[in-house]
Amino acid sequence: SGLVVAMDGPSGSGKSSVSRGVARALGLRYLDTGAMYRAMTWWMLQQGVDLADPAAIAARSGEPSIVSGTDPEGPTIQVDGVDVGGPIREAEVTGAVSAVAAVPEVRARLVALQRELAGAGDIVVEGRDIGSVVCPDAAVKVYLTASAEARARRRSAELTGSTVEAQQADMARRDTLDSTRKTDPLSMADGAVELDTTALNLEEVIAEVLRLVKE
Ligand code: C5P
Repeated sequence: SGLVVAMDGPSGSGKSSVSRGVARALGLRYLDTGAMYRAMTWWMLQQGVDLADPAAIAARSGEPSIVSGTDPEGPTIQVDGVDVGGPIREAEVTGAVSAVAAVPEVRARLVALQRELAGAGDIVVEGRDIGSVVCPDAAVKVYLTASAEARARRRSAELTGSTVEAQQADMARRDTLDSTRKTDPLSMADGAVELDTTALNLEEVIAEVLRLVKE
């Protein structure tokens, strides 16, 4: 089977841009697993599921059909046939996704879908638990980090109407939830190479990952 590159790290570490750039450079597919957790969260909100109730989330987690398109030039995500690429980036979903992603039944379902997509290889997979849980046999595992300030700056450059301080507070909250949850918390996988991107631009980070792939 083909090459798998596992790309993990906290929010705002540059994972998506780096992963897409690496996939493009190597002619690989690209899977954004965060988009799948966001899509599940969007559906739960649509359905009026009480997101403070993990049992309610678990009970409904098998229902939505979630389909990811893996072209790095234009990744797509559909829920029950509806393109949700826009709405999953909005504040309502971003604020709720960590609670949904902490539910073991949600993770079991989405990890199974992710393994199906990654199984054939020739893919860059990005998320929080790729090197540790989804693709533990990946040939290359990268853990991207950046200072909290650099991560907040990058995120607020992508979004309008939000200050760096507000972004930093929201990301800190999400990272704490993602790192301290009981099931598959964000952590550095065995065999992962840590890459601090604080002082690097996108092209430099992509070049560094390509170097790791060629090693
Ligand atoms: O990467 P992104 O910010 O879109 O991820 C959204 C959320 O999905 C994360 O904050 C985390 O709670 C969850 N997630 C996860 N495991 C992954 C990818 C994302 O728990 N592999």
